[in-house]
This record gives sequence, C-alpha cells and structure tokens, in this order.
Amino acid sequence: MSAHPSAAIEKVVIIGSGPAGWTAAIYAARANLNPVCCIGVPRTDPSPVLPGGQLMLTTEVENYPGFPDGITGPEMMEKFQKQAERFGTRIVGEDIVKCDFSKRPFTVTTSSGAAIKAHSVILATGAVANWIGLPNEMRLARSGGGVSACAVCDGALPVFRDQVLAVVGGGDTAMEETSYLTKFARKVYVIHRRDEFRASKTMQQRVLGNPKVEVLWNKVVVDVLGEETISGLVLKDTRTGEQSQRAVKGLFIAIGHTPATKFLQGSGIALDDKGYVKMPVAHRSNTNIEGVFVAGDVADSVYRQAVTAAGMGCRAAIDAERFLAERGVH
Ligand code: NAP
Repeated sequence: MSAHPSAAIEKVVIIGSGPAGWTAAIYAARANLNPVCCIGVPRTDPSPVLPGGQLMLTTEVENYPGFPDGITGPEMMEKFQKQAERFGTRIVGEDIVKCDFSKRPFTVTTSSGAAIKAHSVILATGAVANWIGLPNEMRLARSGGGVSACAVCDGALPVFRDQVLAVVGGGDTAMEETSYLTKFARKVYVIHRRDEFRASKTMQQRVLGNPKVEVLWNKVVVDVLGEETISGLVLKDTRTGEQSQRAVKGLFIAIGHTPATKFLQGSGIALDDKGYVKMPVAHRSNTNIEGVFVAGDVADSVYRQAVTAAGMGCRAAIDAERFLAERGVH
C-alpha cells in the first residue's frame, strides 16, 4: 500500500473503500481523473472497521445483481478494488483524520500527517453498524456463525430458513428486519431493553400483529452461545436482573448505525442530527461545499445496501467530473 504518491494537486480524492468508494474510483479512473482512493486502516475497537467496509463482515452476498451464485462480501470488495486499480486508481492505505474545505484546492490530512491537495473530494466512508459488544457476538459475526447486523443482507440465506431467530432493538430497523425475517423463519423473537418500542406505530403494528413474532420486553442479551454457529442466547431482565436462555439459530442486531464522519468535524461539511452528511440538492451527490461530493451509507440511513451505495458512488464521480470540467481541470 503506497503512501500518497506526489505533492501535485489531485483532481479527485476519494475517501472510503466500500462499494461507494470503489465505484466512484472506477468511474473517476475511466474518466481520466487519475483518482486517489484513501482506504483506511483496519481496527477492531469498539466495532470492527476494515478497508472494504461493512461487506468485509458479511458472508454470502446474494442480492447484488450479476452474481447469480452469490459471492462473499470480502471477495466482492476484492473484485471492486481490482477493477478500480485496473483503470489506474492509486491507493493510500491510511485514514484521513482531518479535512480543510475552506478553500480550493482542498487539503485532506492522513494519519501519518501527509497533506493531500485536491480539486475535488468524494466522501464515501460509510456507516458502522452498532454491536452490543459481547465477545461471542463478535466472534460469531466475523466467522459467519449466524450473527449479523443486516437481516436484509443475510436473512434469506438457507441456514436461517424455518429456524427460530432473534432481532435485538426497538427502532424502525428492528421492526423492518423482523417483518423481513418472518418470511423465511419459523419464529422471530424481538428482544428489546424497554417495555415500549421507539419505532413508528405502523411498523410496530406490523410486527406485533404477526403470529410468528414473540416480543421479549425488558430484556438484554448478555451472552451468545455456540461454537461454530449460534445455538442460543443468555438474556437478562432489565428490571429484575433475572437471567434466562433461548435457543436460536440466528441473531440480528438492529440497534442503529454510526456514520463515519468524525474526521469531518470542523471541516464545514453539514451533518444531520445523527451525524450523516446532508445532501442539499435532490438527485445530486453535492454536499453543502462546492467540489465535495458524497456517496453511500455515510449519507444514507435508509437503504444501506451495497448496490445503492455503488449507484451513489457512480453519481458522485460523474458529478465530480462535471464540476472539474466546468472549471477547466482535465
Ligand atoms: P434507532 O431508531 O436509533 O433505534 C435503535 C434501537 O436499538 C432502539 O430501540 C434502542 O433502544 C436500541 N438500542 C440501542 N442501543 C442498544 C444496546 N446497546 N442494547 C440494546 N438495545 C439498544 O435506530 P434504527 O432503528 O436503525 O433507525 C435509525 C433511523 O432510520 C431512524 O430515524 C429510523 O426512523 C430510520 N429508519 C426508517 C425506516 C423506514 O421508515 N422504513 C427503516 C429503518 C430505519 P431504546 O429505544 O431503548 O433507545
């Protein structure tokens, strides 16, 4: 992994290396913008974060068009990267820790202190699924042992069909994932730490009226059982402290996501109240700063799919190309 290769002003710097970042890189490279992609460094604390993004923690991907037999998340990201490199994308294997968007050319600073100057920047750093943080939860999530933070991505896999599954959370995502899982599962427990959901009433009703669903109110998961694959959960009642166990073959964590926007603090990029990058122009990848574009889950708390992120990456690269062309940067 090379450090930043030159002191020249880059046409476009892409920050992030999930489906959004690599797709932006493929389009930018094919448009002769000679992009630099800052892919970040792996870390595990508090949640696992890897170059390649959330797909690096996914086993089978069966819903990305073009892969009729499915593909693993890491394999898919390797292919995205190879395709971006084939057209000349240069890679910086560092995190970006600071951005100065106050004047053009912009400056982005890497973790080693290198300053990269750029005429345009594409933000594609994604969002990290929140995990409970239990050692066995993380072990079985990493090994594809039946613990996942995305039911829409993983729930339809054969291992979960006709099984007893559990969803943790009480928000809209938990409701949506529960409804989705009931299409395949025999039974779905919803485990929530309080005695009421925060989800919208309509989505709650869909779950509460489903005969396959049993809600376990006032419960938290304190351990995940199973060696190779999950076999059960240890629960604790939040009012009495009493512990109990449930046998399950799958666990879906739906306790929110955290967008990776900490490095944007002080940069002038407008964020919403949850920390997602705001997109002020409908159907465009613009941010509030001219020349800075955004793609993928870092600006999307709704869809969060590889294919939607890739589509956003394509849009951001095309928007950056037009922005540069209008200013005579070729
Ligand atoms: P959310 O609204 O923040 O809900 C997170 C849920 O997880 C809450 O019920 C919370 O419990 C629980 N939780 C948080 N930390 C926990 C922990 N450590 N252990 C156990 N439980 C924990 O997140 P979300 O459901 O992902 O939704 C995010 C945003 O996207 C929301 O604005 C939502 O409306 C939106 N969304 C919309 C749709 C839709 O309209 N179709 C679908 C999905 C998401 P408490 O309630 O006790 O805090």
